[in-house]
Amino acid sequence: MSKKQFQAESKRLLEMMINSIYTQKEIFLRELISNASDAIDKIYYKALTDDQLNFDRDSYFVKITADKANRTLTISDTGIGMTEEDLENNLGIIAKSGSLAFKKENEAKDGHNIIGQFGVGFYSAFMIADEVTVVSKALGSEQAYKWESTGADGYTIVPAEKATIGTDITLKIKENTEDDQYDEYLDEYRLKSIVKKYSDFIRYPIKMDITSS
Ligand code: ADP
Ligand code: MG
Repeated sequence: MSKKQFQAESKRLLEMMINSIYTQKEIFLRELISNASDAIDKIYYKALTDDQLNFDRDSYFVKITADKANRTLTISDTGIGMTEEDLENNLGIIAKSGSLAFKKENEAKDGHNIIGQFGVGFYSAFMIADEVTVVSKALGSEQAYKWESTGADGYTIVPAEKATIGTDITLKIKENTEDDQYDEYLDEYRLKSIVKKYSDFIRYPIKMDITSS
């Protein structure tokens, strides 16, 4: 399967994330939860104007699943999902003001202390993961798709199986190094405290499911 290349701007932002020596790597979770919440907002507002869609509060939530044995952290949402085209356009290209503002500012200051000031977005996942997999099924679609990337060398998109509308983002957590501990991003209490710190205001329930074996 041939790899698609990231757009040049995206690739540079991605490389910055992968090689980040930024200490506040924890903000990746804020970014992914805020994307999940945005996606649920989108389905919510659609439901307001579409009689066919019934917005049942209980079926909309974000779920964080950590699997210590496999070193994976999954952020799932029951939001609007992404089509194959959306995956290509939204995750392969930086079109978003937040990411661009961050990049410009970072170039200007050449500092590492400013990630927290911006919505760095989806690519922040690469600060703590060496592989990111997004499985998504869009509202109105029969077919789900899987976007996958191990970093700046590109990404793949293939058809996938997913029963329900929404998005599952799975991060393969990096191995610990001498300088950086990544295990903590699989730890229930650490994850809970990150959620509390940055995502307390999210309007949808954030569930958690941690397995150690
Ligand atoms: P921003 O949130 O500022 O738009 P991001 O880099 O965080 O930028 O996300 C890029 C885009 O990818 C989003 O605008 C959205 O279209 C799409 N996206 C990311 N995560 C999800 C998700 N969980 N569900 C649906 N779309 C998503
Ligand atoms: Mg975002």
